[in-house]
Amino acid sequence: MTNPKLLSRLASVTGPGGVLTGEDVQNRSTGWISRGSMQASAIVRPRNTAEVSAVLRLCHEAGQPVVPHGGLTGLVEGGHADRHELVVSLELMNGIEEVDENGPSMTVEAGVVLQAIQQRAEASGLMFPLDLGARGSAMIGGLISTNAGGNRVIRYGMTRNLVLGLEAVLADGTVISSMYPIIKNNSGYDLKHLFIGSEGTLGVVTRAILRLLPQPRSQCTALIGVHEFGHLPRILRSLHAGLGGTLSAFEVMWNEFYRLVTTPPARQTALLPQTFPYYVIADAQGSDQKPDQERFEAALERITDEGLAGDCVVAMSASERQAIWAMRDDVDQFHQFRPWFGFDVSMPIRHMEAYVAEVRAALAAKFPSHVCFVFGHMGDGNLHLNIHVGSGDIEARHEVEGIVYGGLGSRQGSVSAEHGIGLEKRAYLPLCRTEQELALMRTLKHAMDPKGILNPGKVLIQASSL
Ligand SMILES: Cc1cc2nc3c(=O)[nH]c(=O)nc-3n(C[C@H](O)[C@H](O)[C@H](O)COP(=O)(O)OP(=O)(O)OC[C@H]3O[C@@H](n4cnc5c(N)ncnc54)[C@H](O)[C@@H]3O)c2cc1C
Repeated sequence: MTNPKLLSRLASVTGPGGVLTGEDVQNRSTGWISRGSMQASAIVRPRNTAEVSAVLRLCHEAGQPVVPHGGLTGLVEGGHADRHELVVSLELMNGIEEVDENGPSMTVEAGVVLQAIQQRAEASGLMFPLDLGARGSAMIGGLISTNAGGNRVIRYGMTRNLVLGLEAVLADGTVISSMYPIIKNNSGYDLKHLFIGSEGTLGVVTRAILRLLPQPRSQCTALIGVHEFGHLPRILRSLHAGLGGTLSAFEVMWNEFYRLVTTPPARQTALLPQTFPYYVIADAQGSDQKPDQERFEAALERITDEGLAGDCVVAMSASERQAIWAMRDDVDQFHQFRPWFGFDVSMPIRHMEAYVAEVRAALAAKFPSHVCFVFGHMGDGNLHLNIHVGSGDIEARHEVEGIVYGGLGSRQGSVSAEHGIGLEKRAYLPLCRTEQELALMRTLKHAMDPKGILNPGKVLIQASSL
């Protein structure tokens, strides 16, 4: 429980509606993954950076642990809050402050939802290229804190590449404002990167200046059926070369995933027969629809003539494009297989086929009736595995984790390509980070949050006890 005196001091900082307790907390969902009820002792909802700073200063003085919350679409329990922890939600800080069309850039508060940013950019003829299935709920503070990837990393990079300036508040309330709307800035350490991807353990992100790009004037999308894994990297290379740098997504769905999202109760119908082992969604963004479409179709023709593509559907309209992407985005279908364990690993593409075969063989030996869906941002070396083995208990989870993570170290892989570490993967961090790297992470954590009040226990085990 949080000290009532502290709660009343926090309420005087944040004003009416700024501090929620009791049923107002318990009735809140804990997010897309768990769908339980919130355990936190209270939710504090500051309205600006000064209030975040005052809230953290008071919590720091009191040694009160704090868990930052955005849209709660995180997939690794990074927002998990125990009874003694206090949530700082950025949901009321949802203003778009400025769009600089010449920059081009957009200045936003941390609680703005991704889709609102995309739409505002579009209204100015610009684009914020970050895109993912949780676009309607994920907030920019959460996306920055997890360094989210998504569907277009192959072309535009991860969130880190799209943040020009950043403001964050340290555990003791100090405001670090690096709100520079410039791409090139080598004046000393680039401090914003400490907060990007650190999952709320080093500071609370309050505002950001985002990099915008010109709105693409053309988009070409295809669904490609592929017979052999070895064809996938060759298709990727061929499309990269043939599309003059405009390839903006290269997503791969293994057969089981495709069947799941094209069979009722899923709403999408199969645009290609359900018999291919692999399906690619290729997407290119350019500047002139007619010639870009011709170049796109010529590139697809080449891979078909070379025998790399088994069959292909090209979107001829926005609604056909949406129908293709709707398959990839329909991850809600996993809920048919509750309980399931979700993974987000990365490795060089050349290792993927053997890795997936190894995981499947080990699962079959241990859990004969398991179901394993594989899909992901293959162009970025990123695979998602969603696995159902019947039981959801901790022993089953550890066995499955051992199988999925076991083959990564020897393949220069990572236990988290884009979702982060949170609580869920922290025990496995040493599999893909050296002792020296982990020691430096702990040193940073201790320097920036000596009392260990910020998102305690996330990312690094026992960081707070240092
Ligand atoms: C359907 C679906 C599809 C998804 N697809 C992708 C994908 O393609 N790529 C991808 O990378 N992720 C994906 N995700 C995961 C998720 O959307 C991202 O991790 C997202 O960045 C989380 O944003 P959020 O606002 O929901 O953050 P939350 O879930 O609220 O928080 C996530 C973490 O960030 C911290 N945090 C939140 N806000 C702040 C802040 N202002 N300051 C400091 N720390 C903060 C939290 O403490 C927590 O550790 C998907 C999730 C869903 C449900």
